[in-house]
Amino acid sequence: MTRPTSVRIDLAALRNNYLYARGVHGGRALAVLKANAYGHGALASAHSLASVADGFAVAFLDEACALREGGVRNPILVLEGCFNASELKIANELDLWVVVHQEEQIRLIEESRTGARFNVWLKIDTGMSRAGFRASDAANAYQRLQSTGKVSAITLMTHFARADEPGESMTAQQIETFDAATAMLRGERSLCNSAGVLVWPSARRDWARPGLMLYGTTTHGREVPELQPVMTFESRVFNVRTLEPGESLGYGATFVASERTRVGLVCAGYADGYPQTAATGTPIAVDGHATSLIGRVSMDMLTVDLTNVPNAGVGSSVELWGPRVPVAAVAQGASRSPYELLCAVKRAPLVHENVGQGIGEPLRMTGTR
Ligand SMILES: *Cc1c(COP(=O)(O)O)cnc(C)c1O
Repeated sequence: MTRPTSVRIDLAALRNNYLYARGVHGGRALAVLKANAYGHGALASAHSLASVADGFAVAFLDEACALREGGVRNPILVLEGCFNASELKIANELDLWVVVHQEEQIRLIEESRTGARFNVWLKIDTGMSRAGFRASDAANAYQRLQSTGKVSAITLMTHFARADEPGESMTAQQIETFDAATAMLRGERSLCNSAGVLVWPSARRDWARPGLMLYGTTTHGREVPELQPVMTFESRVFNVRTLEPGESLGYGATFVASERTRVGLVCAGYADGYPQTAATGTPIAVDGHATSLIGRVSMDMLTVDLTNVPNAGVGSSVELWGPRVPVAAVAQGASRSPYELLCAVKRAPLVHENVGQGIGEPLRMTGTR
């Protein structure tokens, strides 16, 4: 008997969500696959999107290398850009697009001696104050890049701090700052992450950069019925017992039965990525019926209330999140974000379904760091 815990990934849903995101935004869209595609498996996700996606985005060079080594030929943007000269050399060899968000990265391009030309995405900070050139320095950074003679294209980009808050004026302010800073600069533009795509029509330009919505969830507080959950985190009940009134359950004895309570023991815990902070009452489905977590989540197990699911027993299927239990609802029950929950999934095997077509030949890697 093997442990019945797994993470099913519906790649048809992923393709659906990508096409929906691009359709809403218009223009082209980079599917953001950083952090192992938010826990969904970057390579499998890339292959399943390869025939439809305009390109991909990852956080850093190694993530891009893994996709190229796995045979992905689509454009890949490296969102943090390169950290040193040898990374820039590899980026060029693997035909990657690079974000340039600080002085040092312009200097690396100026000093590169490969004779290569780079497809650069120039990141402008319009209020997030994290990465990117200040709006007042944008034109200067642009001119410096141009005068290196080593850039084949410059795409102008920025990133939103509060796009998932529909009534919030900061996003409108960021759009205005971006437009003013780039008014005199030629090149394509990219502003929208998922929330930008869904909430801010005025931010739509040449390229979208959707991440979270590709995986079928959102944080802006509105239902988007066209988006389909991609990940189903599932397990089974492997023991059942009944608590008498006054008996406590689990670490910390945080749950004390006030009446007879049927409890199912489930083979998944925080070591699999289910949030330890999930509180009693967090939704879970058993054999398709809505019920909830009770007691504290353990490393390898958790407990679920079966009092109102009388037909459930050992072997019953458990959906921790997926089509019946929105990951956003679990995130809320755990005081976490859906981003964090999806990225945290580990140990339980990923099972990719509806793989589709588009698998290329692996590229031979050259160069070392
Ligand atoms: C992660 C990231 C995205 C995707 O954001 P979502 O909110 O997941 O859609 C887009 N752009 C940049 C620069 C990012 O770092």
